[in-house]
Amino acid sequence: MSEQQFKVADRDTLFRDLKDFIKTHQSTGKKLALLLVKIHRFRRINMVFGYEGGDQVLNEFVIRMHRMARSKDYIARVGNSEFILVLPEIMNEGHAALAATKLQNTLEESFSINGNMHKVSASIGVCIFPDHAQDVAELINKAEIALVDARSNPRLFSIFSEKIEDTEVYSWDIEGELDKAVDNDELSLYFQPQVNLQTGKVFGAEALIRWRHPEKGFIRPDIFIPIAEQSGQIHKLTWWTLNTALRLIKEWPDSGEPLKVAVNVSAKVLKDMSFVDSVRAAQNIWSTPGGQLTLEITESALMEDLTTSFITLNELKTLGAGISIDDFGTGYSSMAYFKNIPANELKIDQSFVFYMLENAMDRHIVNTVIDLAHGFNLNVVAEGIENIETFNALKELGCNIAQGYYLAKPMPQNEFIQWLNNYQPE
Ligand code: C2E
Ligand code: CA
Ligand code: CA
Repeated sequence: MSEQQFKVADRDTLFRDLKDFIKTHQSTGKKLALLLVKIHRFRRINMVFGYEGGDQVLNEFVIRMHRMARSKDYIARVGNSEFILVLPEIMNEGHAALAATKLQNTLEESFSINGNMHKVSASIGVCIFPDHAQDVAELINKAEIALVDARSNPRLFSIFSEKIEDTEVYSWDIEGELDKAVDNDELSLYFQPQVNLQTGKVFGAEALIRWRHPEKGFIRPDIFIPIAEQSGQIHKLTWWTLNTALRLIKEWPDSGEPLKVAVNVSAKVLKDMSFVDSVRAAQNIWSTPGGQLTLEITESALMEDLTTSFITLNELKTLGAGISIDDFGTGYSSMAYFKNIPANELKIDQSFVFYMLENAMDRHIVNTVIDLAHGFNLNVVAEGIENIETFNALKELGCNIAQGYYLAKPMPQNEFIQWLNNYQPE
């Protein structure tokens, strides 16, 4: 069966038809729900299986959507991996929630791509006329806000609410607030442990920034870091993170070998010529022993300007800092750059780790990355390990370092110290 056999409107047709829908609902006083559905990791599906594989997923997805939908429901494709499902004449919000749950349930079953079984997940943002929006543009905009909220958990959906709008970045001056955050002590660093898979010993921790806004609560870093990158505030934030991390590791209990701390560095910061001086200064301020600090740089940041990145990374190495290539496998990399890579560690992207037990292709990629890294004398970190089965599988594959909720979630300093004191290697 192909997509053509099912009716799937395009964006323009959807806009036109939605206008009509709204008109009739206005006159009858009935409700309508709009579900904005985004398939995750679609770029990667295209990358691994080719466009033909991507199309197979889209076709199958449309078939499943049609199966769960009522005959009066309406489906449109509005982006590369985005669909809109319109549910006319619903009684209440519960009806929309039920449809979203049903849609999520259709994804439980793996997709077959060229004969390989593959897990597909999607986020759904829901908006309801007339409760949340009065016209087409507002409906879609608010569904988008709900979708951002839903993306914090790939297996869930989210229905628009004032509260979501308030905490999402759309409605307030995040830049201005972020400036104040540094001065008002609203930022803190959490630590997520890393354990040596082969010896069971603690290896160190990744430092992850947290922002607790006095009124809006926790703001996720994947929301405010991109804004800080655009505004230039990322330089100030990185300076804060670096110094806070190097200050706090001095309080960690001494267990023989010094534990490493990994700090995330954005592409924008890596391009800044004075970054090496900042690292040197921070190491001097806190008398950090060489080798205790690791800098995590995403593969995509590295690829933005390979020549400059390599120069900077080589300088950082002379300061004794470790270099870890983060989110490895998502950067569309050519393997050629590997020959001279100034790094000591590869961090396999969590999206490969999450499904490696259910998905032969993901397991194969993890295995290949481990072999590749070892061939170049690099340590391999696997993050996103959520259960003992994945932990054991990675150990078996020869992976060096483990990080993930199975060991511990990121914790504030005092809890991390407690965790270190209680930790027993298996
Ligand atoms: P990342 O560097 O890839 O960090 C890993 C993220 O995965 C963290 O989310 C961590 O809490 C989460 N994680 C770890 N283990 C698991 C697991 O087993 N399951 C699941 N579902 N998630 C797991 P977090 O702390 O929300 O950070 C998100 C991103 O924000 C980071 O991704 C990083 O790109 C950025 N970020 C965080 N702190 C900083 C910082 O200080 N500076 C910069 N430039 N970026 C930062
Ligand atoms: Ca990281
Ligand atoms: Ca990562």
